[in-house]
Amino acid sequence: MDPRDLLATVPCLAIALLTLGYLALCVVDPFGRCRACHGTGRKHSTIGRLRRECRRCAGTGLRLRVGRHAINHIKDEYQAAKR
Ligand SMILES: [Zn+2]
Repeated sequence: MDPRDLLATVPCLAIALLTLGYLALCVVDPFGRCRACHGTGRKHSTIGRLRRECRRCAGTGLRLRVGRHAINHIKDEYQAAKR
């Protein structure tokens, strides 16, 4: 095997490993921190210094990861096709 071939396969392998790692993370820990409130669940209002409940996460400080959205969508489509 040519060393250049080996060098060309490294990025492909790295991308595949990153994708599989992210999907495993989405299965193990489906929720991430809310980006709007940084996981606090509270956000400063535009007027005054009042801290209100974050509307994006409804005060939980959590959001569903994008990969988990994709997994849930695939599961729903599979269930709909089985019916
Ligand atoms: Zn939030």
